[in-house]
Amino acid sequence: MEKESLKYQRLREEMLRQQIEARGITDPRVLAAMRKVPRHVFVSEALRDQSYGDFPLPIGEQQTISQPYIVAEMTQALELTEEDRVLEIGTGSGYQAAILAEIAYRVYTIERIRSLYLQARKLFDEMRLFNIVTRYGDGTKGWEEESPFDAIIVTAGAPGLPSALLSQLSVGGRLVVPVGNQHAQDLIRITKDKRGVHQTNLGGCRFVKLVGEQGWKEF
Ligand code: SAM
Repeated sequence: MEKESLKYQRLREEMLRQQIEARGITDPRVLAAMRKVPRHVFVSEALRDQSYGDFPLPIGEQQTISQPYIVAEMTQALELTEEDRVLEIGTGSGYQAAILAEIAYRVYTIERIRSLYLQARKLFDEMRLFNIVTRYGDGTKGWEEESPFDAIIVTAGAPGLPSALLSQLSVGGRLVVPVGNQHAQDLIRITKDKRGVHQTNLGGCRFVKLVGEQGWKEF
């Protein structure tokens, strides 16, 4: 068991050096979180040895755990502080939520596939990540009762900006969302201040579909 955890610790260090730092992630809080959170725990046993590779992996239900670099890039773009309350749409494996939970005050995460929601919730309990609050349902509508949020992250590709999420973002807040068609998207970063909403394009990305009332319709 000791040897096993040492092996993954080494793989994690390698991931940080070769994929995360080498591509320009500099926020020390993001680097510390990625160094600490055991990514291999969030995939099935058969895939554990691949979990620190430079690619997404399947997590069942035709969904994926995102590539480590995209997790780091999106987290850095949120400019989180330890006081922030963050909303995540698309819990998936729970890995991104665990990274956010290392940095922020509280993480609210929503997943629309029940088996993934239950699995992630169990993992958060086992890992004693008590500042993560989970919900089963359509995240495109946000989480009205807990809004406004200092930061919102959407980890599935949207056809457009879900307006409910924008309205649940606080003044001074940051929102990161992949927007595009079902094959390719741009990672959009939105900030809100007293004068309005500002948008920047962080570049191309590829995510599974955001399915819901303000996302893609299910067929
Ligand atoms: N953040 C995840 C992780 O760290 O493993 C990766 C998420 S995976 C790329 C996208 C997830 O978004 C899938 O689990 C999918 O079921 C979920 N999803 C898609 N549409 C959703 C919606 N409207 N509300 C909540 N979750 C949604």
